[in-house]
Amino acid sequence: MSSAKNEAARSLPSVDELLRSSTGCEIIAETGAKHAADLARAAIGAVRKTSSTTSKTETLASCEANLTEIWKLEKMRGQKRVINATGVIVHTNLGRAPLSDAVRNALIEASGACTLEYDLETGKRGKRGRRVEELIVELTGAEDAVVVNNCAAAAFFVLTVFASGGEAIISRGELVEIGGDFRVPDVLTMSGATLREVGTTNRTKIADYEKAIGDKTNLLLRVHPSNYRIIGFTATPSVAELAVLAKKHALIFYEDIGSGALVDLSDYGLTDEPVVGDSIAAGANLVTFSGDKLLGGPQSGIIAGRKELIEKLRKHPLYRALRPDKLTLAALQATLLSYTRGKQFEEIPVMRQLAMTAEEIKRRAEDFVANLPANGAIEINLVADGSVIGGGAAPDVRRPTVVIAIKHKTLSAENVERKFRMFEPPIITRIENQAVLIDLRTVSFDDESVIASAINSLN
Ligand SMILES: *Cc1c(COP(=O)(O)O)cnc(C)c1O
Repeated sequence: MSSAKNEAARSLPSVDELLRSSTGCEIIAETGAKHAADLARAAIGAVRKTSSTTSKTETLASCEANLTEIWKLEKMRGQKRVINATGVIVHTNLGRAPLSDAVRNALIEASGACTLEYDLETGKRGKRGRRVEELIVELTGAEDAVVVNNCAAAAFFVLTVFASGGEAIISRGELVEIGGDFRVPDVLTMSGATLREVGTTNRTKIADYEKAIGDKTNLLLRVHPSNYRIIGFTATPSVAELAVLAKKHALIFYEDIGSGALVDLSDYGLTDEPVVGDSIAAGANLVTFSGDKLLGGPQSGIIAGRKELIEKLRKHPLYRALRPDKLTLAALQATLLSYTRGKQFEEIPVMRQLAMTAEEIKRRAEDFVANLPANGAIEINLVADGSVIGGGAAPDVRRPTVVIAIKHKTLSAENVERKFRMFEPPIITRIENQAVLIDLRTVSFDDESVIASAINSLN
């Protein structure tokens, strides 16, 4: 070590000295002395590598600045509230469905003691999730329903209970990967069922299924391709045709719908999303769908269908491993109650955001921009664009929107995007044509003022 470096090293504060600074005290109060000491050590270590000053006051100041930065970055990690300004309605990386006000209240109520498995009328033990199951029955026309932690678990559960050791017949066009790591064939074969593939990638006929039925066949399986579309020369049997075939051979017909629209959404461009009630009405014996995609509720997997089949699932030992907790059930109940009230397009954020017209968003964007103070550092334009549905649903659908496009006179779009992302609370935007885009479709009215502050801070 050179003697200059030696001198510099001697001027570094000790961990204790650094923690006695106001920043240090603040961090100790929030994270505890032990972890604060680790952070302080890291901050001093970073300054040791770069500093050449021998002034004690200066090194202490740089260590403090470094500690503040390390602490700020640490607080950015883990789960944290953000503002979704991407316009992607069911943003998988940003927590899928944002929940309604009714759900927030229900979560607070359920956080204490609640009637998870208690019947107030009899004062005796009650059935977990029964009210939620009744609401699903009411909304889908199914005979019965049961809820598990997510739709992948629901699919695994159904196959384990009804097809393990036997065969489930599935079209080659449906052996898809649905975002993240959910590969239909992988999860389904974990159940112990053998997938018997029929047809071709683009065309599968009812006769293909019928030819494959044999002694080992337990069920006919249909999986909605969700994030994937085969277009052009295609064919796939209808739900009704498969239901008839299953009945003829005394098999179970199970459909994994995925997104789980409870109401028809074709007015909003979602013409390919099956409605759960339609599938049940067309004769599916079991249907599984997610609670946090188009349904707009908490992460959960819903299984609806024939009474005796659902009863078998509920009594199976695996249910104990897959059943949801009180928070999920409380949130799902509050979400479903918005549907039974017929208020889903007003109360459930996913539904409200889906239904928002480009005109409505344009007016909001115009008001928003008109109220921004003058800022010579940026140029703002309103641009016609499309909002993506997200969550692996309707990959080919864009809802018409109007975005606020921001260009900075000197900073790159990547730089501005990062400033928004590092804002408190973080604002997630997207970049197109060297402009940072803000789509108000997925931004609540309350959060507009936060975005305005972030824009004002650009200079
Ligand atoms: C998304 C999806 C799943 C997985 O649902 P999770 O709730 O994420 O577990 C299963 N099947 C289909 C068809 C899907 O679209």
